[in-house]
Amino acid sequence: MKTLIAFDFDHTIVDDNSDTWVIRSTPDQCLPDWLKQSYQKGRWTEYMGRVLTYIGDQSVHPDLMRAVMESIPFTEGMIELLTFISDNKKDLDCIIVSDSNTLFIDWILHASGMQSAVDDVFTNPASIDARGYMSVRCFHAHDCQQCPVNLCKRKVLNDFKENQAKAGVYYERICYIGDGGNDFCPSNDLKEGDIAMPRKGYTLENLLCKASSEGSATPRAKIIPWSNGNEILQELRALI
Ligand SMILES: [Mg+2]
Ligand SMILES: [Zn+2]
Repeated sequence: MKTLIAFDFDHTIVDDNSDTWVIRSTPDQCLPDWLKQSYQKGRWTEYMGRVLTYIGDQSVHPDLMRAVMESIPFTEGMIELLTFISDNKKDLDCIIVSDSNTLFIDWILHASGMQSAVDDVFTNPASIDARGYMSVRCFHAHDCQQCPVNLCKRKVLNDFKENQAKAGVYYERICYIGDGGNDFCPSNDLKEGDIAMPRKGYTLENLLCKASSEGSATPRAKIIPWSNGNEILQELRALI
């Protein structure tokens, strides 16, 4: 049986936030205050919609936006890790579950040549219209109280496992690699034998620590914090 690697994207595969990185494509490389102040908690995707409309209003060409996105740095060791995954597809399946969007992730993976490592990407669908304006929609609706309205990564992971099982694919274990608050819901739902891999010093690590010290909803999965992709690579090498 294979191991499933589930990655977050922002601050995990890449060492920044793709949704804020795109602001570098605007003429002033910043957003006006009225736009920044329009963000409402838990409604990030709607806010990003306004940011992308603003970028379109500045006549930023999609090719420039793409070039800017392709310059986002990868987290140390992630290229090595993705190359390892790509070389070991008989043992490893790999998905990305992200609150970014399809275009940003496609562009960045394609530019790095790393898309062969990734079997599937679950994120907010984005497109560019005839005027050159980019827009983004919510990934799905769900009833999880812990997660932002557009995306519950636990539901994504469970739906993926269910669909794979229907196709006769079962996983020996799941390794979930992430950094943020919205990675807690899927990480805390992992089963015995699975591995939660929170980035050291980031929100997910704190949330997992807190949950295990409180004894509340203690994850049964092993927790292995990491600071670069090579450390994860060593863990995977030992597993397969
Ligand atoms: Mg993240
Ligand atoms: Zn959730």
